[in-house]
Amino acid sequence: MDLEHYRVTPGSNVDLAQWATDDDGGLDKDEGRHLARELNERLEELQERLWAEHRHRLLVVLQATDTGGKDGTIRHVFDGVNPQGVKVAAFKKPTERELAHDYLWRVHPHVPGDGEIVIFNRSHYEDVLVVRVHELVPRARWERRYEHINAFEKLLTDEGTTIVKLFLHLSREEQAERLRARLETPHKQWKFSLGDLAERERWDAYQEAFRVMLERTSTPWAPWWVIPADRKWFRNLLVSEILVEVLEALDPRWPPPTDDLTGVEIV
Ligand code: AMP
Ligand code: MG
Repeated sequence: MDLEHYRVTPGSNVDLAQWATDDDGGLDKDEGRHLARELNERLEELQERLWAEHRHRLLVVLQATDTGGKDGTIRHVFDGVNPQGVKVAAFKKPTERELAHDYLWRVHPHVPGDGEIVIFNRSHYEDVLVVRVHELVPRARWERRYEHINAFEKLLTDEGTTIVKLFLHLSREEQAERLRARLETPHKQWKFSLGDLAERERWDAYQEAFRVMLERTSTPWAPWWVIPADRKWFRNLLVSEILVEVLEALDPRWPPPTDDLTGVEIV
């Protein structure tokens, strides 16, 4: 697969129509699933080595529209990966105490340490998405945040964190399908909220907020990837492929033994 196609070139103009939401990479579902299983095994080993080496830190940022598939992506892509060393941090509506601080205050404590992978299920980007769409703070204030965010991520990468930012790109029609499924399936109703319908009415405003986010915060140190998300299997496959590629570039190694083991015998 040509991964470059899905990476947002830093400094480029972004038009979301550049990426088809129902892209299948020219594969069929069975091939896709087969490849995903292989990648999953490689991811497992790479994570194990990353953890053992305790040198690199990997931050995966997931953003999407409602029903975009953030939870499903995490569940599938990290299936079978050793939970030791992998954490998910979910960012919900800020608490009163969080709102009494700058918007990065609640985020920084969750970034990965040596050997860790942390997945942000929503992130500091909500502060230029939902906050922008609903004008939760005045424009003059959220406008400056793109710059802060780029600087924050530069700090993290300068200090040894690798950042992979994934935008799950869903069509309006597929969102309708998924909302309908949630409404009609008893065991999915817990995921449905009337608020999702109110947000859906702001579809265009959200798409514009995502577009600007991609344009202004895809940087050489922390680029965005656009993940076509109408087909769940393709979404999972592409995310796995990107993560495996990034981890292989870090090339984590099994550490040497701490002691000299020559001639050691277990009796
Ligand atoms: P969910 O991920 O479905 O549990 O929903 C989490 C909710 O928290 C979403 O509606 C987000 O828009 C909201 N949220 C997350 N971060 C922020 C933020 N910084 N300001 C306002 N709302 C937020
Ligand atoms: Mg929700």
